[in-house]
Amino acid sequence: MVDIAAGLSLAAQAIGIVKDLREIDKGLDSAEYKARMADLYSALADVKMALADAQDEMKSKDQLIAELRDNFQKKGDLVEYHGFKYEKFEDESPKGIPFCPRCEQNLGRYYRLARREGARGDMKCPECKVDYRHIAEFSWEQGR
Ligand SMILES: [Zn+2]
Repeated sequence: MVDIAAGLSLAAQAIGIVKDLREIDKGLDSAEYKARMADLYSALADVKMALADAQDEMKSKDQLIAELRDNFQKKGDLVEYHGFKYEKFEDESPKGIPFCPRCEQNLGRYYRLARREGARGDMKCPECKVDYRHIAEFSWEQGR
């Protein structure tokens, strides 16, 4: 696999060399030569841009992998109660407010529901905006 950071620095170096050559070339006055140098310069600039894009893409993939890993880890730290997943205490009892099951299903991400106005247990997902009713809410601290 290509080392993208090294590729980027090589491309930048090559562009610098072409710039220098163009300076030296001033006395030669060959239109053809100059046109070719311009092509080369533009090609190298494209290489640099392509590598920069590739680097960005790799970074965002790394981020996604880290996020998925976190979520996978999180899944093991949750306990299910009446179809909703909650964080849990050491004794496996549910804690606080659950996460949105729809977002877990659709996005593979955990968004904690938020209380909304209305009856106790009425909650809303801040992400997908779905309303839920009769959601059991537990204490955030054990033994209360
Ligand atoms: Zn949701």
